[in-house]
Amino acid sequence: MNTTTADVVVIGAGIAGASAAAALAQTQRVIVLEREAFPGMHSTGRSAALFSEIYGSAPIRALSRASRRFLYAPPEGFVDAPIVRQRGALHIASAAQMDELDAFCALPDVAPSVHRLSAPAALARCSILRSDYVAAAALEAGSADVDVDLLHRGWLRQLKARDGQLIVNAEVVRLARGGAGWRVETPDLRIDAPVVVNAAGAWADVVARLADVRPVGLEPRRRTALIVDAPGAESDSWPMVIDIDERFYFRPDAGGLLLSPGDETPSAPCDAQPDELDIAIAVDRVQTATTLEVRRIRRSWAGLRSFVADRNPVVGFASDAPGFFWLAGQGGYGIQTAPAMGRLACALAQGEPTPADLAELGVDAQSLRPDRLAATAGV
Ligand SMILES: Cc1cc2nc3c(=O)[nH]c(=O)nc-3n(C[C@H](O)[C@H](O)[C@H](O)COP(=O)(O)OP(=O)(O)OC[C@H]3O[C@@H](n4cnc5c(N)ncnc54)[C@H](O)[C@@H]3O)c2cc1C
Repeated sequence: MNTTTADVVVIGAGIAGASAAAALAQTQRVIVLEREAFPGMHSTGRSAALFSEIYGSAPIRALSRASRRFLYAPPEGFVDAPIVRQRGALHIASAAQMDELDAFCALPDVAPSVHRLSAPAALARCSILRSDYVAAAALEAGSADVDVDLLHRGWLRQLKARDGQLIVNAEVVRLARGGAGWRVETPDLRIDAPVVVNAAGAWADVVARLADVRPVGLEPRRRTALIVDAPGAESDSWPMVIDIDERFYFRPDAGGLLLSPGDETPSAPCDAQPDELDIAIAVDRVQTATTLEVRRIRRSWAGLRSFVADRNPVVGFASDAPGFFWLAGQGGYGIQTAPAMGRLACALAQGEPTPADLAELGVDAQSLRPDRLAATAGV
């Protein structure tokens, strides 16, 4: 077996591992280990690619606000095309959902970003909405589609340029204290490093158990998406339409429409596959709210969104295992929060405080600490 050393080993090369590893590689010798043959095969490659500053819990919204600048104006040379394309998000409510819409629009950090729209004004933005379904809506004009692959590749390229290393087909199978702090083993390689970053997505608790570290109670939940034919070219200018209770959403996608039933079915960590019933539910819910007639499903997929009990991410050192750093639980928001999360993880993993610009926008590392979960993780 080959042996080597590093300052930091990152487990998982999805968007979380890639963003943190690229930031850490500015000052540290970083090795990223990815089990699959290519990075992005799991949640990162399966998202709906939304950037919204008002989607998710308050800590998520702060991380998203703090990510905006990077997504719209990345550093020189990071990528060679725009990462985001502006597209509004229209949060719609039926008559029975008006209380939810009101409560959402009243949240202090949501209110400045949305405009209330009457039903006719909502229909003017998206012509397939049914006038007898939509009672009112809230439009977030500043949301966007993210080119996830471009963003992810940008960080992997940056990692390489900073002499960091990505090793694929490298599943971490053993993880124990020893050597310089942690001894990390794949079937072919042993690495000694003082710091291990657990960015294993849905497998983060599996990795913790390998290391005999207390799990955080991560629950992977399956979410389904499908692409259907769009009713016409005009649809490309529509906003993303999101049911206020997230029972469905749809948005234009490369000449078609991406639909989701907003499902959250508990699942073991796995290569998630779509269920026919969830596909049928998505079609039914979207057809109920719109005049769309789905005749053909071009393709469908599913991926895992992984949450802990309070649905906030988990970022920071484990209190029961020095040098074991958590970067997990991004739920359905790991793309839009990745720029801020990668920098926050980098700072905390080096014993530094939250970067001032992130703190100013409301990012509070305390609310993300792993040890807040000790009581709920059932261990
Ligand atoms: C249908 C769907 C829609 C979504 N929509 C959005 C959206 O619109 N906006 C948004 O911001 N987010 C969205 N998300 C959520 C987002 O995709 C995730 O939060 C994000 O991709 C999580 O990234 P990650 O790097 O933590 O996980 P992953 O991308 O799953 O990466 C984890 C990696 O760890 C590797 N790994 C696991 N165990 C080991 C091991 N033992 N050794 C080595 N490697 C290992 C895995 O192979 C994997 O590549 C959506 C998700 C889904 C499924």
